[in-house]
Amino acid sequence: MSGLSGMSRRELARGAVGAVALTAWGPALAGRAYAAGDGTSGDGTAGGTADGAGQRRVVARQAGPFEVLALLDAHGPFPGRTRDHFTGAAERDWERAERLDPAAFGPDGTWELDFRCYAVRRPGGRVTLVDTGIGPVGSPASGWAPVPGRLPRVLTEAGIGVADVDSVVLTHLHSDHYGWVVGPDGTPMFPGARHVVQHAEVASLDPGDTSLSYVVEPLRAAGLLQEVDGRTRLVGDGRGRGRAVTLVPTPGHTAGHQSVLVEGGSRRVVVTGDVLVHAVQWANPAVAYRFEHDPAAARDTRERLLAEARRHRSLLATAHLNRPFIPAG
Ligand SMILES: [Zn+2]
Repeated sequence: MSGLSGMSRRELARGAVGAVALTAWGPALAGRAYAAGDGTSGDGTAGGTADGAGQRRVVARQAGPFEVLALLDAHGPFPGRTRDHFTGAAERDWERAERLDPAAFGPDGTWELDFRCYAVRRPGGRVTLVDTGIGPVGSPASGWAPVPGRLPRVLTEAGIGVADVDSVVLTHLHSDHYGWVVGPDGTPMFPGARHVVQHAEVASLDPGDTSLSYVVEPLRAAGLLQEVDGRTRLVGDGRGRGRAVTLVPTPGHTAGHQSVLVEGGSRRVVVTGDVLVHAVQWANPAVAYRFEHDPAAARDTRERLLAEARRHRSLLATAHLNRPFIPAG
């Protein structure tokens, strides 16, 4: 999802979520972190880093040789009322959604959500980062999201140095997913990493889109932008088939949206991006999110991704549900 203050109609169409500029969001909200267990069991090695308040900002799952780390950038309420964003959901869908993600249901019908990135750590310690959160104060998400995000600190907590990150996957070019691509000084945060995005995503941007000036142009100037077309193998562990990290086109939320499939032999994790943004779309994949770029494509993508994930008993790693890893179904 994405939202910006002073949003244009085009920006709304691209996935923004409300015209309310929540510039009054303060440190209290910005600092709220994920505090609940993820509820999965029997799904491999779990790890975590807790702060003094018992809040877990780093949660790990092992997938064969790959360690998948959920990194919480921020948490906060979303503008508007939840049900206005998912008008196609039936009562039974909401009931299932609330059982899966009770923390998403705030007071007065508000939507409470995490803003999460993921890291895939390979043997030897090299890291692929998937999305970069809402970013610092002054980032494009600042008009509506609870900035500052905490990603730099959370990476440190996860034992990941900037130099360890050799690739950054951007699932799509919405402001809550690219916030830490550059730091407050406008220079790339991960200068040793290629930043991989689908060409269709870049090609869909309007000339005045903030993503161009904030992400695409600085990365291009630094020689760090890699545009890919379609399904793309990002890394393999070199020890046989079925152990790989692969980019999978998942269009609909945006034109060039992509997800990341982590295959670790017997364990698969799908880093979904915004294929589903709320548990109600896990409960019923046919439920549209109000600001999808192409609702029909988004529905088709969601149904196919969830069906395949169920077939493989995959774990879903979503950006905005209040649990870092959930079963596919
Ligand atoms: Zn999002």
